[in-house]
Amino acid sequence: MTIAPDLPLRDPLTARPYVVSTIRQQTHDIVTLDVRPAEAPIAFAPGQFDMVYVYGVGEAAISISSDPATPELLSHTIRAIGWVTRALNDLQPGATIGIRGPYGRGWPLDDAEGRDLVIVAGGIGLAPVRPAIMAALAQRDRFNRIALLVGARSPRDLVFRDDLDRWATNPAIDVHVTVDSAVRGWGGRVGVVTKLIPRVPFDPDGATVLTCGPEAMMWHTADALVKRGVDPNHLYVTLERNMRCALGTCGHCQLGPVFVCRDGPVFAWPEVSGLLEEREL
Ligand SMILES: Cc1cc2nc3c(=O)[nH]c(=O)nc-3n(C[C@H](O)[C@H](O)[C@H](O)COP(=O)(O)OP(=O)(O)OC[C@H]3O[C@@H](n4cnc5c(N)ncnc54)[C@H](O)[C@@H]3O)c2cc1C
Repeated sequence: MTIAPDLPLRDPLTARPYVVSTIRQQTHDIVTLDVRPAEAPIAFAPGQFDMVYVYGVGEAAISISSDPATPELLSHTIRAIGWVTRALNDLQPGATIGIRGPYGRGWPLDDAEGRDLVIVAGGIGLAPVRPAIMAALAQRDRFNRIALLVGARSPRDLVFRDDLDRWATNPAIDVHVTVDSAVRGWGGRVGVVTKLIPRVPFDPDGATVLTCGPEAMMWHTADALVKRGVDPNHLYVTLERNMRCALGTCGHCQLGPVFVCRDGPVFAWPEVSGLLEEREL
């Protein structure tokens, strides 16, 4: 992998240079890196991801978590779990990283046109749906109700708290936040995110749902939504799998007949529910 700034015809495996402008600590092990391209910005759709390369370390697939209206300032929200993501968490402003992308099929906002748009996010799962929330709010007239349901293990695990506070006072979106276990000073709801589903006002028959979080959470969310009457064909999830090429050739992210990089990472629930491993409890 090389960082090559001026190639006229780009190898799809060549990363472009981006400079880290701001680092926002979201939780003890999650940061959001805001980066600016050294070259012309590249448009992306909500739900797409990049391959983010730390020079001398390696690259990882990371969802884009910023506003698609401003591709000149790109954000990625990263939990430190391995070599690359730890190196990304350790960067300082001014550092140069490589990015290739955007890749994949994003959130189907068109499917939600004229319908209720319900977004369910667990933990860091708010990051991949954040561009969809921003895009939906920018075109508010296209949708009926917009509801955001957010769950985290504890208040300390909530990401994008500034956004949540801002959206909570915005009449254009109905925001519900819950944590599995509270700490002193938490005045909000306690309980898993699926407990919110029966309580939030939306029309299940006319709702399109976007869900992102750990796989077990998505299973339980899908169960609860289908029980409430949501058509599974209007229920979308985004999947994370071990990814290398991101171009649909290497097969590392293959899940049965689908490649997460090429056919996803966003899928309608019936496309993947039969392919996922047995649900965790
Ligand atoms: C489409 C897509 C979008 C993604 N978006 C994001 C994102 O926005 N933010 C983010 O932090 N990560 C995201 N990921 C996950 C990230 O790409 C992987 O966690 C990546 O492997 C990290 O690289 P690493 O070298 O730091 O860790 P590795 O050395 O690859 O892994 C370290 C350890 O974590 C385990 N592991 C790897 N991936 C996962 C996973 N997905 N879930 C649980 N355990 C895992 C490995 O088995 C290993 O034990 C995304 C993945 C995909 C496919």
